[in-house]
Amino acid sequence: MKIAIIGAGYSGMSAAWDLRKAGHEVTIYESADYVGGLASGFKEPGWKWSVEKFYHHWFASDKHMLGIIAELGLSEKVIFPRPYTVMYHQGEFYPLDSIVKAIMFPGLGWGINKIRFGLVGLFLRLTTNWKELEKYTVDEWMRKWTGEAVYKLMWEPLVIGKFGEKYYKQVNMAWMWARLHARTTRLGTFEGGFQAFADQFAEKLTALGVEIKLSTAVTHIEKNADSGEFELATSGGNEKASKVLVTLSPGAAAKMVPSLPREYLDGLLKLKSMGAVVLTLSLKHQLSRQGYYWYNIPKSAGFPFLAVVEHTNYVSPDNFGGEHIVYIGDYLEEQHEHFRMTKEELLEKFAPSLKKFNPDFELSWINKTWLYRTAYAQPVPLVNHSKNIPSIETPIAGLYFASMSQVYPWDRGTNFAVEIGRNAAALMMGKQK
Ligand SMILES: Cc1cc2nc3c(=O)[nH]c(=O)nc-3n(C[C@H](O)[C@H](O)[C@H](O)COP(=O)(O)OP(=O)(O)OC[C@H]3O[C@@H](n4cnc5c(N)ncnc54)[C@H](O)[C@@H]3O)c2cc1C
Repeated sequence: MKIAIIGAGYSGMSAAWDLRKAGHEVTIYESADYVGGLASGFKEPGWKWSVEKFYHHWFASDKHMLGIIAELGLSEKVIFPRPYTVMYHQGEFYPLDSIVKAIMFPGLGWGINKIRFGLVGLFLRLTTNWKELEKYTVDEWMRKWTGEAVYKLMWEPLVIGKFGEKYYKQVNMAWMWARLHARTTRLGTFEGGFQAFADQFAEKLTALGVEIKLSTAVTHIEKNADSGEFELATSGGNEKASKVLVTLSPGAAAKMVPSLPREYLDGLLKLKSMGAVVLTLSLKHQLSRQGYYWYNIPKSAGFPFLAVVEHTNYVSPDNFGGEHIVYIGDYLEEQHEHFRMTKEELLEKFAPSLKKFNPDFELSWINKTWLYRTAYAQPVPLVNHSKNIPSIETPIAGLYFASMSQVYPWDRGTNFAVEIGRNAAALMMGKQK
């Protein structure tokens, strides 16, 4: 088969790996001039490693990603440090990245709240029945089982942070289950950064015979009823393929293939998602004196962002010429003003709060800043989401769609991009998944 894959993120590259290995002719069309998609990175001249545009790491349970890395022969480049995550509570930060640490968290007191928190955590860690949980919202289920106080303190900030005021009461409980069920405290990355991995993945694909056309945006896909072939309009001219896999956001896919039947298009357009805004700073000094990696901050604490992530408390600053790399991130809807503000305006808004992380912080510590934003960062799984997931096989025979919005019940991630990309490849080759 002559296969066209739209997007050189991890779903597209993973699908290409399997399809090419099975002997098919594969071309990947990528609008950017680099591979890696949302998990791509950038690199300054003096740096040995790249920095991800949006903070990224793997979990030790990411078997699809670790599996394909092993097939690519790159396992020795994966490292799994054990950084520290903390949560803000009444002016202080407390370690909170394991059930034991969470149980020690002083905000919970020592009475019934701690017991309810522990028991619910244990239940969610042990149960596998997420189908039952997706019938409820996090808001109603957690309020009922952990009680109002525990919910408000521990769980509500997480859902508000990720899904905003608009959606946090609608997110289903299977999403929360998946986070607690599968995540680990050890966090993995690739020597050289995620971009180094994406580049090496692309090199292996090219060596295998996959053609990767960078800076080539696909604008329109149509199936020719007579020839049965797909005709692709791209910024580099028209192309043809016998089968096509689209790995973009549901909205972008709907726009690209307007001839999809109404019902499927409506299903794509109905899916909700949040965007992300991440301002990255290079600092002359370490921000967290305690060496913390990830600071979770409840929106109610009044900070103008959701998380501060000191990347160089996870991997060494030596990889970045001794510079200390700090991400300031938030999940927001595209209409939020942070999608329109400049880097300088955002820095002015965020900088005063950085003193709460280190009272000595001064603007003069900043070497350089970068700003990355994406409107499609986090799908929002509503109640009974499993019934609303568009199928990978679209109603147009030979056209396939694989995106973050179909990853479920797990929370989106590169691990699941690999899984869905490989599932799509199997379907394209007529294997049931
Ligand atoms: C803030 C944030 C934090 C995250 N943290 C983590 C994490 O810690 N760990 C983790 O594993 N995952 C994380 N993720 C999720 C991870 O980035 C995604 O799950 C994964 O990268 C999705 O891969 P994909 O191939 O499905 O899509 P994408 O990476 O979005 O790939 C789609 C590709 O299509 C290209 N494209 C778009 N339009 C066109 C067009 N018209 N023509 C041709 N090409 C086009 C894009 O440029 C892109 O390269 C995070 C994501 C965000 C936003």
